[in-house]
Amino acid sequence: MRRSCTLLLLLFAAPATAQQSKPIDPANLDTICAPCHDFFQYANGGWLKRASIPGDLPAWGAFNELQERNFDALHAVLDAAAADVRTTRDADLHKLGTFYSTCMDSARAETAGVKPLAADLARIATVRSRGDLAGTIAHLHRIGVPAGFTFRSTQDAKNSSRVIAEAYQGGLGLPDRDYYTRNDSASRALLSNYEAHVAAMFTLAGRSKAAGAAAARGVLAIESALARASMTPVEQRNPEAIYHLTRLADLQAAQPRLGWSGYFDAVGLTGIAELNIGQPSFVAALDSLVANAPLESWRGYLEWQLLSSRAPTLDSRFVNESFRFNSTVLRGVKEMRPRWKRCLIRTDAAMGEILGKAYVARHFTPEAKARALEMVGNIRAELRDRLGRLAWMTDTTKTKAYAKLDAIVNKIGYPDHWRDYSALRIDPVAFAANVSRASAFAFRRDMAKIGKPVDRNEWLLSPPTVNAYYNPPVNEIAFPAGIMQPPFFDPKADDAVNYGGMGAVIGHEISHGFDDQGRQYDAQGNLSGWWLPADEKAFNQRADVVREQFDGYVAIDTIKVNGKLTLGENIADLAGLTIAYGAYRRSLAGRDPPKIDGFSGPQRFFLSWAQVWRGTYRPEYAKLLAQVDPHAPPALRANGPLSNMQEFAEAFSCKAGDPMVRAARAEIW
Ligand SMILES: [Zn+2]
Repeated sequence: MRRSCTLLLLLFAAPATAQQSKPIDPANLDTICAPCHDFFQYANGGWLKRASIPGDLPAWGAFNELQERNFDALHAVLDAAAADVRTTRDADLHKLGTFYSTCMDSARAETAGVKPLAADLARIATVRSRGDLAGTIAHLHRIGVPAGFTFRSTQDAKNSSRVIAEAYQGGLGLPDRDYYTRNDSASRALLSNYEAHVAAMFTLAGRSKAAGAAAARGVLAIESALARASMTPVEQRNPEAIYHLTRLADLQAAQPRLGWSGYFDAVGLTGIAELNIGQPSFVAALDSLVANAPLESWRGYLEWQLLSSRAPTLDSRFVNESFRFNSTVLRGVKEMRPRWKRCLIRTDAAMGEILGKAYVARHFTPEAKARALEMVGNIRAELRDRLGRLAWMTDTTKTKAYAKLDAIVNKIGYPDHWRDYSALRIDPVAFAANVSRASAFAFRRDMAKIGKPVDRNEWLLSPPTVNAYYNPPVNEIAFPAGIMQPPFFDPKADDAVNYGGMGAVIGHEISHGFDDQGRQYDAQGNLSGWWLPADEKAFNQRADVVREQFDGYVAIDTIKVNGKLTLGENIADLAGLTIAYGAYRRSLAGRDPPKIDGFSGPQRFFLSWAQVWRGTYRPEYAKLLAQVDPHAPPALRANGPLSNMQEFAEAFSCKAGDPMVRAARAEIW
């Protein structure tokens, strides 16, 4: 869609960073742009006019505004925990305060230099034969360094009641395989910039310039080979393509050169007979690299993975070089975030449920949870009705779809049982050492799940996170406390605003259970062919209309949106918004809501949806996302689903032929 309504000045506007005073603030609109021409611009043009991306961020939008407010709240929690370290009797808060304090201790980091990594570097230096690689890679995995491949627990996709081990592609320093394989001049320039970054890190760690450059070439050779053997993001969206349940003995026989049994022993998995291999061809390439890449290159590669992973925890030379490449070159960010924010993010990653427990005690109310549960109930009921009315689905498949919908578990706000951190030890030592301890705790915890039943209480995001998810193998939706705030959810706002924001988010997550990927999992979370072939065909035809719609959009410059990569999210947006709208009508129970600021209830519903997606991105970041992000750019997420909806056209009196009314409408649920 071409966006051309950008020539308007809005006067008397409040600064874009201030929290808006009304749930739908007329000052955020661009009413010169017709809603039927470009609704994103109409709903957000005033906001966009005033918005500027803070120097320390790659983007600015509704998500960031809320994130920054949450950061302030969490900052207060952490400052209090740090101040109380000597006096508190709460072991968890003691850990929280100590971890955060050691991160904030910049003087100590400057004095220590690379010393906190000395033992791990020495361990890598002991790799004298190819037989030493498995044990050293296992050591790095145990402290959270992503070397060679990813190793983790996962639910068995075809027997979702059990947890198994999984080896998955990984070990790259750049965000995606294509960064290594593309041949255009911009991509080649980026790759040599990366090589210079790797060399600079080696030099900081003590090598000469020439030795650093040579080691960087070895790293690039190994990573490029791993990249060539990696699946694309689109290929990984096919759950069958990444499921290869394999006996450990068979893996060891077919690809003997890494020494998988030794690796399993080293990560503490004794008596485990099988695992899932995400990408057999990747494991084969790894096996060949173990045999053929020079040992000097392997030592350099492992050292690089350690340095890259820990650079942000070391002295400012490492911090600055890591920032230069990862934030400025890859994402266009101009300034480093203040130290407290970087430490806050690290603390959330290390002990998110200690931080989250303190956060929800201060910032999440039982009323918010009750209101959200009521919305979830209405949205589920609406989807059930819609399933019943579908002309294209047979009754046989419908019955199974009902069963799946009814089995979806709701998680709202925070976990029923908080994570036990008693085995995690945090001391006033170098911050890098505490990061290793926290990573080791997380890895041990993950390995301990293998061979045991699934813990259905577990959350995949911490409570303060501004996000939500659907998890197919557990068949659950989760909405952390962090997202249940304006502009998504406002206890003081009318239903139109809450259903257009939070309601559409809830609808989006539930719909993931029925998108092109999620629909392949049944009520118990098993990857099973529960669809009749005719229904599958009818679904795919409808999904194809969505794919074609988004294939036709431009993400940035000449880069098109990848309709296949973003298909699941676009289906979830379309379905989620449609269902949320139905649930909104349901909540009105026949009442006609009064106009507010001249807008009807339905109009406010759609304005609320569009304002959730207000945002602006740095070009470098937009290009990165176009490659790896399964979500389309925000303006398209706002307009794409609306241009398929008759209800939207009616609310704003849009006519056939208007840009916001698609001739070939996509409709699934
Ligand atoms: Zn999604």
